[in-house]
Amino acid sequence: MSVYNVTLIPGDGIGPEISEATVRVLEATGVRFNWDVQEAGQDVYEKEGTPLPDRVLESIKKNRVAIKGPVTTPVGKGFRSVNVTLRQALDLYACLRPCRSFKGAKTRYENVDIVVVRENTEDLYAGVEFQRGSEEALGLINYIADKTGRQIREDSGISIKPISEYATERIVRFAFEYARKNGRKKVTAVHKANIMKFSDGLFLEVATRVAEDYQDIEFEDRIIDNMCMQLVQKPELYDVLVMPNLYGDIVSDLGAGLIGGLGLAPGANIGDEIAVFEPTHGSAPKYKGLNKVNPLAMILSGVLMLRHLGEMEAANRLEKAVSELIEEGKYVTYDMKPTPDDPTAVGTSEVADALVRKLKEV
Ligand code: NAD
Repeated sequence: MSVYNVTLIPGDGIGPEISEATVRVLEATGVRFNWDVQEAGQDVYEKEGTPLPDRVLESIKKNRVAIKGPVTTPVGKGFRSVNVTLRQALDLYACLRPCRSFKGAKTRYENVDIVVVRENTEDLYAGVEFQRGSEEALGLINYIADKTGRQIREDSGISIKPISEYATERIVRFAFEYARKNGRKKVTAVHKANIMKFSDGLFLEVATRVAEDYQDIEFEDRIIDNMCMQLVQKPELYDVLVMPNLYGDIVSDLGAGLIGGLGLAPGANIGDEIAVFEPTHGSAPKYKGLNKVNPLAMILSGVLMLRHLGEMEAANRLEKAVSELIEEGKYVTYDMKPTPDDPTAVGTSEVADALVRKLKEV
């Protein structure tokens, strides 16, 4: 039986707790792993002066598969997001976030089954930014005034939004290929091409062109604001959604809200050779160390990883165990109970215990 070398980044905040739960559950499927544990984030930054040491990237490059807990990003100051850096450094250009309803999950919606495919490397997340008042920002403001006659206020901070033909073509192809492989019927491109004609306009133009190569799959487009309303009103009409980075980030959380919250939303960052699996949610620092939060989003990210490794039987078994656990509603965390202060809610590690027991039964 093969043993998979997988880089494990526990992360910070609630990351280590949900990682511990995920490792136990993944091992209980019978699939064998050799975990290469790599620390990243705030604590590493304090010790080593960088939140993402080279050894972490080297480990992922060597193993080609990683699973990670969330990592805190300081807001508006401090180091750049480890998550964004990782995606860019390893060219993990596709972020895949399936949002599927589970029977028994606390939500206003039933039968949601959408997959958000988010472009991961460019758009406003490219990290090309100019600080208010800096020489570079003022130079750029002058350049723009000179070339376009448009005056940007001098006290502005500026973030650049690059959308390339290259990155759009590969993310849209990824979405269509995913749709084909997974028996999906429709791809919807999401954009704001009516306003941003040269960035989102290009995204739409390229998406429409790529769609011609996939006549077997329906294609349509939606403007992002309308898309949000449609998803809230009739999510059952949608299937695979493909969009630039920022909209993808926001719509992923919206999708998580449709199926019962961030505690249930898995994710994967995928490149041509490397894949990093992680929950959609962040490090929820206020719950750190309390054995309180839901590990299911990371465990479901583990299901995506098992599928990526070709371990379909184990993936299906684990997904079934998670579905049953949610439907039974007994061994679930506070966020899945009718009210957050429900005294019958169990902790992170008890969810893992229950899943391990279930996996042994089947
Ligand atoms: P968050 O997702 O960490 O938490 C928002 C709220 O969602 C929490 O307060 C909690 O109520 C709930 N929640 C999140 N995960 C949960 C879980 N597993 N179980 C139950 N409830 C859960 O979002 P935030 O507060 O905006 O971000 C906190 C930090 O995480 C920030 O530094 C942010 O940059 C970082 N972040 C990291 C990642 C990542 O590592 N990929 C993703 C998003 C945010």
